[in-house]
Amino acid sequence: MKRDMRLQEPMARHTTFRIGGPAERFFVPSGIGDLRAFLEERPREDPITLLGAGSNLLVSDEGIRGTVIHLGAFQSVRVENERLLAGAGVMLPGLLQQLARDGLGGLEFLGGIPGTVGGGVRMNAGTEGGWIADRLLSVTYLDASGTLRRQRREEITFGYRQMALPRGACIVGAEFRLEPDDPMRIAERLRERMADRRKRQPVHLASAGCIFKNPPGDAAGRLIEAAGLKGARVGDAQVSSQHANFVVNRGKARAADVLSLVRRIQERVRQESGVELAFEIEMVGVFEKGAVS
Ligand SMILES: Cc1cc2nc3c(=O)[nH]c(=O)nc-3n(C[C@H](O)[C@H](O)[C@H](O)COP(=O)(O)OP(=O)(O)OC[C@H]3O[C@@H](n4cnc5c(N)ncnc54)[C@H](O)[C@@H]3O)c2cc1C
Repeated sequence: MKRDMRLQEPMARHTTFRIGGPAERFFVPSGIGDLRAFLEERPREDPITLLGAGSNLLVSDEGIRGTVIHLGAFQSVRVENERLLAGAGVMLPGLLQQLARDGLGGLEFLGGIPGTVGGGVRMNAGTEGGWIADRLLSVTYLDASGTLRRQRREEITFGYRQMALPRGACIVGAEFRLEPDDPMRIAERLRERMADRRKRQPVHLASAGCIFKNPPGDAAGRLIEAAGLKGARVGDAQVSSQHANFVVNRGKARAADVLSLVRRIQERVRQESGVELAFEIEMVGVFEKGAVS
């Protein structure tokens, strides 16, 4: 079968921010065999960027050097004895709906996170209701040389929006613990979460979710609002007037606009409250030196 390898693929098509220049190469493996063959064959100096739904990424206007690997074909979903085995490319929103219909609860707290299973695990995605790691049993990944490995939850260290996996590890699937429940009750919990999000967050506009991590004991959104930055704008990048920790793309924002806006936010919050805001989003691609510290 011919390998799905595209050249100069515009990354704006693959990020929820709708921002990002071209990936030098964009590879969509058809399955583990295809991915493993690519990892074994590739020149070691060729950088690799893994991509889920692109919902936590700011990709530079100049694009990404090397190969972006998109795991959209890893779509398997299997439930065995209240254990869910899901492929890395499975989208969380659709998965949660399917589990609700089947009367399988436990992951509703992830409702409204527009990412994949792989990206969710890598980011240890979470809400006030918990972290994805709370329900995780194991992660299966290909290491940088293409060897398939499985690690149990207890063997992995998780933190706020991070997990420790070997460099270059490509998550192909994950296993979660579920709890059987009444489908109506699960669906109701999901509906409540979505309604709450629509009230609090600009979910109808292009963004990458929260820009900054919440500093200990405080909320980044509160600090940004207190610094008078709600609605602040650089080009088409704007601090949401609904939730100040969201920067939204009003149409034609470039990564450079977002970067200049988030630097302004960091500076003003530092001046006003002495807090150093750290990025929750990940910056990928060619940014000027020092831009992403
Ligand atoms: C409207 C909105 C609301 C959001 N709300 C939340 C929220 O409540 N809580 C929250 O935690 N996040 C939230 N996010 C951010 C984002 O959805 C999460 O971080 C999500 O888990 C990212 O998943 P993804 O598949 O989009 O990953 P991507 O953004 O594509 O990638 C994120 C990181 O994971 C890596 N990665 C992706 N797939 C793999 C893989 N298979 N193997 C190894 N590494 C991989 C990437 O290289 C990158 O480093 C929100 C985003 C938006 C746009």
